[in-house]
Amino acid sequence: MSKPKLNADTVKNAINPLDFYRHELPHAPLVRHVWNDGGLCPFHDDRNAGSFRVNLETGAFKCFACGMAGGDIFAFVMALYGLTFYEALTKIANDWGLS
Ligand SMILES: [Zn+2]
Repeated sequence: MSKPKLNADTVKNAINPLDFYRHELPHAPLVRHVWNDGGLCPFHDDRNAGSFRVNLETGAFKCFACGMAGGDIFAFVMALYGLTFYEALTKIANDWGLS
């Protein structure tokens, strides 16, 4: 039997963006709002929290200081770790015990 190919929707649906960002941004003051303060931006040398926002409904993120933005948790992992979409999908699935 071959292993089923990872499915992006399955992985995305299995992970709550709030849990994901608590894991990736352990110092961010996340609460259950849609657009949240993500703490210090991981994409630039940020010394003043307040510019980086994460969306805990969709997983989107946006930094108003450096302009880095993306639409979901895959985009976040691709940007942060310099991965392709499939590498990001594989990393997330591994990190979250879904593979
Ligand atoms: Zn930034």
